[in-house]
Amino acid sequence: MAVPKKKTSKSRRDMRRSHHALKPASYVECPNCGEMKRPHHICAACGHYDGREVVATETA
Ligand SMILES: [Zn+2]
Repeated sequence: MAVPKKKTSKSRRDMRRSHHALKPASYVECPNCGEMKRPHHICAACGHYDGREVVATETA
């Protein structure tokens, strides 16, 4: 089994983890209803994507 030759120092370990932070999810305004939605996702409020309704909603 391959085994590390030297213990990773706290500095090296923390430098490696400096890139691990999560970014908050991005949101864009739905062009149809104005609700906030994830980019490249169907709008949860009106079910529209790319200018047409692709998922039926209760109000539609
Ligand atoms: Zn919408």
